[in-house]
Amino acid sequence: MSLYGDYDPQNIFAQIIRGDAPCFRIYEDDDVLAFLDLFPQSFGHTLVIPKRATARNLLEIEPDTLCTLALAVQKVARVVVDELKPDGVQLMQFNGAPGGQTVFHIHMHIVPRYADQGLGNHAQGKADPAELERLAVRLRQRFDAPA
Ligand code: 5GP
Repeated sequence: MSLYGDYDPQNIFAQIIRGDAPCFRIYEDDDVLAFLDLFPQSFGHTLVIPKRATARNLLEIEPDTLCTLALAVQKVARVVVDELKPDGVQLMQFNGAPGGQTVFHIHMHIVPRYADQGLGNHAQGKADPAELERLAVRLRQRFDAPA
């Protein structure tokens, strides 16, 4: 799919927002949802998406929504880093299939990086659901805890 075209309300992230498909949620408010990637590139690979936007990519998103998304990414990344103690963290965002995008609802990747590990070597393909659930509970508790 190119950079241009219509938003498909049946894309998997739209289904997750509507509650029509499951996710391992770690944070949610009125504007954004953060959940674990099913095919993690590293331990703690998290996706953050705007809930009310029908933008497929960075070029389409409203500036205010982008600001809200960026602030949420920082909030979630801080918790992920504080809890998992990676040695680094990558933020990634892809636009159009040739740009690496596979799901056409704008999203940001938070990818913790560990000094002794490359990308994609944590899980071969789809992660173990039980492990994702344990991790989601662990991270979610950090948001639920009183400040
Ligand atoms: P993109 O390549 O579009 O930037 O990233 C899409 C991401 O969504 C990929 O990292 C992929 O592993 C992830 N993904 C695809 N389908 C699902 C799904 O059903 N649930 C979750 N949690 N992640 C998904």
